[in-house]
Amino acid sequence: MSKHSNSPIARRLRLTSITLSIGMIVIGISVIVGWLFDITFLKSVSSSYIPTKPNSAIAFIISSMALLLQYSQPDEQPLSMTITGKLIGAMLTIFALLTLIEHVSGYNFAIDQIFIQETSSYQIAFAPGRPTPFTTLIFMMIGLTLIMLDLRGLNFLVQILASLIGVAGLMVITGLTYNTSLYANSQLIPYIYASIQTSICFILFSLALLFMRCTEGFMVLFISDTSGGIVARRLIPIVVIIPLIFSYFRIAGEQHGLFDIVTGIALISILITAIYIFLIILTSTMLMRMDIKRKLTDEKLRKSYSEIEDLYNNAPCGYHSIDENAVFIHINSTELQWLGYSYDEVIGKKFTDFLTPNSLDHFHKNFRRFLKRGHVENIEFELVRKDGSIIYVLLNSTAIKNHEGKFIMSRSTLYDITDRKRTEQALRESEDRFHKAMDTAPIGMAIVSLKGVFIEVNQSLCQILGYSKDELEKMKFQDISNPEDLALDLEMRNLLIRGSIPSYHFEKRYMRKNGKPIWVQMTVSLLRDSVNNQPLYFITQIEDISERKVSEEKIRELAYHDTLTNLPNRRLLLDRLHHDISMARRHHHILAVMFLDLDKFKVINDRLGHDVGDELLKAVAIRLSSILRKEDTVARLSGDEFVIVLTELTNPDDASIVANKILHTIGNHFLIHGHDFSIGVSIGISIYPRDGLTAMALIKNADSAMYASKESGRNRFRYYQDTLKNPDS
Ligand code: GH3
Ligand code: MG
Repeated sequence: MSKHSNSPIARRLRLTSITLSIGMIVIGISVIVGWLFDITFLKSVSSSYIPTKPNSAIAFIISSMALLLQYSQPDEQPLSMTITGKLIGAMLTIFALLTLIEHVSGYNFAIDQIFIQETSSYQIAFAPGRPTPFTTLIFMMIGLTLIMLDLRGLNFLVQILASLIGVAGLMVITGLTYNTSLYANSQLIPYIYASIQTSICFILFSLALLFMRCTEGFMVLFISDTSGGIVARRLIPIVVIIPLIFSYFRIAGEQHGLFDIVTGIALISILITAIYIFLIILTSTMLMRMDIKRKLTDEKLRKSYSEIEDLYNNAPCGYHSIDENAVFIHINSTELQWLGYSYDEVIGKKFTDFLTPNSLDHFHKNFRRFLKRGHVENIEFELVRKDGSIIYVLLNSTAIKNHEGKFIMSRSTLYDITDRKRTEQALRESEDRFHKAMDTAPIGMAIVSLKGVFIEVNQSLCQILGYSKDELEKMKFQDISNPEDLALDLEMRNLLIRGSIPSYHFEKRYMRKNGKPIWVQMTVSLLRDSVNNQPLYFITQIEDISERKVSEEKIRELAYHDTLTNLPNRRLLLDRLHHDISMARRHHHILAVMFLDLDKFKVINDRLGHDVGDELLKAVAIRLSSILRKEDTVARLSGDEFVIVLTELTNPDDASIVANKILHTIGNHFLIHGHDFSIGVSIGISIYPRDGLTAMALIKNADSAMYASKESGRNRFRYYQDTLKNPDS
């Protein structure tokens, strides 16, 4: 039991001890006051009893003070107080010893006259102020208890002495109370002889001393919360008091002649037996109830303990504790199951025995930090299971320290994060694969932020655009897009973000670093967050299609142009004429279609050769183009036939001006391959809407007007309308 037990009973007893000590002082003072003012009651309660000596009164006061000075244990109060208490005890012992010697030897040291000169005429006293030998002996015992109190191992002896002092007081009181001469003033034991106050003070001192150190020696029994403690507390005081009370009644009954001695003893025996039986039954019942209650409490405790144990062992997380050498002290079943070991296989082993080499360094670093700071959070470790496989755990730990701050053990929780780790690893691997694929892809690839910044680009894209990886990864695609293509591109990206389309293909022009445009075919898709479907970034594939674009352009050229003269061919002529007609219709313009056929071209061919004929056709094409406006069209239809479309004319006669210009231009000499010659051209003119509403009609009518020109002598022009009026002119 702790020296400083703070149980309510112990506290109550210690407080009682103070009260009892103060009681002694009060009695001592009252005795002195009784002597000073000659008040019999204060000196001896009744004049039929002997009075208390003033010296005894002083002895009570100082022994009570000496006791109070040692109220607390020596290590809980100033040393001076303890020493003073013990010095007082020593002084009391010496005075008592000398007084005893006086009694035995008959020699008078006059120590009892130091303080008090006895003035009373009482004959009982052996010397002035000198207490009786019995009282002196008890004082000596009191002095010894005060000296020995709390000295190593002596408290048990102190308690025995204190009990004897109490019993002595009790003996005197019973003797006086029963008015028998057995104890008090006895012939049998002549020295057991003291006043009532003295006896009361002996009892008070005895109890005060016992209560003061109630947590030690046999007094522990009284404060213990066991059945023994209850029996002792309840029965011992009653066993002491009951016989006293009943004996008093017996003697009183005998003295008043109610019954004789034999009857008295018989009566008292029966009564005491009955009361004891009653008390024992009462106490047993109480103990039984307590026992039942305790059993229930025990059961409850066991249950809650097993619940806590179950929670500890089978929690969905691992628990363990390790000491300062990382040796396992506790581990729960969950963690054991993870590791595949039994409890005995783990306890006594080190935590580090279960770590992968990877985690060892990590552990040592964090364990030092843990011992210093007292806690660590979210540390990841790799543990090796019994079967050799690895389990990833997340560990949180707090340190348990003693009151001096020394580390005792850890209190750690672990979470199995193997699944998460594996997912992370798979993700990392797939990312690696993606990057590798991206790096080695023969086409350009880029991850582009929603705002258009190139987050990541591959080598092929760098080659396509002529920028380095570092340069590109600071740019936005908007910076290097051809402005004409940008609007559509942005529009498509918005559709992607809105989820209207899954991806899009798009041909656009980028500007290379050298400033030259480059055609690319782009495929754009959008990557979304798998959890909340929020758009993350664009994934773009970019293919250089410049070469294809060039050959496409060539094909288009071929399809719409005459290869010899590079003038628009019949197909392009018809396209443009359709377009020009619809424009003229909308704006109420007129337009002219001129059909040209070189005169006697065959002769050139035949005389000068086909090559010269070809060169002539080219030269004619150049001369025709040079005299026309940009919006007009000149096309080669076939052989030596050309068609000219004049748009936005205000007057049909405007065409004649152009026709004359043509006749003049073509009429000029040609110098081809050293041959100087001239050639004529016959022209037929049809006017929209006058001579036809469709392209075909206009060309056909212009053709027929051209024939009219030929027939009327060549190298001239004729309006279709005029041929209708006067076909022969
Ligand atoms: P006309 O005054 O009646 O028009 O007589 P012409 O000799 O010009 O006869 P026509 O217009 O009917 O014949 C055109 C000739 O042009 C026929 C053909 O030999 C020649 N020719 C057609 N295509 C080419 C060509 O690509 N190169 C050359 N050098 N000659 C061509
Ligand atoms: Mg011709």
